[in-house]
Amino acid sequence: MRILTGAISHETNVLSNIKTDLEEFKKRRLLYGEDIIKEFDGTKSPAGGILQGCKQNGYEVIPTVFASATPSGTITAEAFDTLLNDILDGVKANKDLDAVVLHLHGAGVSEKYPDIEGKVLSEVRKLIGDKPLVATFDYHANYTQEMIDSADILIGYDTYPHIDGYERGVEAVNLTKKMLDGKLKPTLGFIQPPMLPALQVQFTGKHPMKTMLDEAHKMEKLPGVETITVAAGFPWSDIPEAGMSFIVTTNNDQKLADKLAKELHDMAWNMRRDFLVTPIPLRQALIHVKNASKGPIVLADIGDNPGGGSPEDGTVVLKAMIEEKLSGGVFALIWDPVAVEKAIAKGVGNKVNLSLGGHTDNLHGSPVTVDANVKHISDGKFISNGPMGTGVPMDMGSTVILDIGGTDVIVTSKRLQPLDLTLYRSLGITPEEKKFIIVKSSVHYRAAHAPIASEIIELDTPGLTSPRLAGFGFKNIRRPIFPLDIEMLGITELKSMDEE
Ligand SMILES: [Zn+2]
Repeated sequence: MRILTGAISHETNVLSNIKTDLEEFKKRRLLYGEDIIKEFDGTKSPAGGILQGCKQNGYEVIPTVFASATPSGTITAEAFDTLLNDILDGVKANKDLDAVVLHLHGAGVSEKYPDIEGKVLSEVRKLIGDKPLVATFDYHANYTQEMIDSADILIGYDTYPHIDGYERGVEAVNLTKKMLDGKLKPTLGFIQPPMLPALQVQFTGKHPMKTMLDEAHKMEKLPGVETITVAAGFPWSDIPEAGMSFIVTTNNDQKLADKLAKELHDMAWNMRRDFLVTPIPLRQALIHVKNASKGPIVLADIGDNPGGGSPEDGTVVLKAMIEEKLSGGVFALIWDPVAVEKAIAKGVGNKVNLSLGGHTDNLHGSPVTVDANVKHISDGKFISNGPMGTGVPMDMGSTVILDIGGTDVIVTSKRLQPLDLTLYRSLGITPEEKKFIIVKSSVHYRAAHAPIASEIIELDTPGLTSPRLAGFGFKNIRRPIFPLDIEMLGITELKSMDEE
């Protein structure tokens, strides 16, 4: 059997002013043909899972394109059309293929298409007739009717931090095999509650999302149920379908699929009050760190998370950290290629005066003038140690450590969410020995940082990934939706909130 595969992965934050062209994909990962296999074979990633699934089942892989960019603004029409054609050309050139298994993100928006995944799947469908079309998706996917109508099976990650991409990739190929063997006729129950949870409450390690996933996993054991996707959605794509979704896939039993999907819908809706977020005021948290006796305390700058499309050059926390004279920590990280260049020109051991960060927009603080010591210079490359994407090569571009008031401030030339401890170790930093670690991340940091953290504090910071969703002025998301339309809490619940 011959399985064609490919990936277009982008979480589009339409409010970001970083344009997503092909260069943005090249900065992160844009690979073709055999290079895809070289990059991902043996890695714990969705692509690694698809390759392994094919290997286990004795299938031949036809790799087309693998494109992924750090979350940023709307994808240019040219970039998306090019990547789409890379997949379609592969399909056209391989008429004898038996199935298509793709990895897509599920929150991609291009200048032409508000739902790029629906476009990819529907165009592939036109070419392959009724051959199996299966795809894996990010947990932050916004599912649409076009995606559901075009694909046979859609499998989202079950975890945030995303640590099961590999398992979902293997699962996608195994279910494809079941279809090819004539043992599975997928029937999908698809439903979306009017809910748009902020990133912090999408964490699957605790209630309410853990409760939802536990229930979905129980349902997956019922006879006739093949797989269930619980997706938290991504608000900043600002499309009508943004938000939470449930997809129940059964074997030729539409009624059961619809019934279970409705049960998950009702369960989430009844718990909606548990999806409100209360981050900690920044100064209060920094004073707490100053007085703490045990480290490292992990502080999450949730407003400036590049994983959700924030620029990662925000200075609000940096400025407060300097003003509070906090020392002995590590700051991960600031994206500022010009500052990196200047620091490298000065060289290790020398002083440098810089205007650091705050260059991209005016939502994340203005540039901060700092006197720093250049402590370390690196090419910024490392291999992920996991638990997310174990074995996958990462690249921060040229990187320096600046000593600012006794804290190691990491400054990079490429945007990369700090979610792997190897990021520190590759720069000679031992994170366990630090008093505090500041990360620009919403939830992913937890996978690697929670085991070493004495405490985790989510900071109430401004920015494009802030949980204060009502302030973004979304134009296209369907209304009413909770929590943008807070009256959907219900009168009695609003009353009890007043009392708190
Ligand atoms: Zn995600």
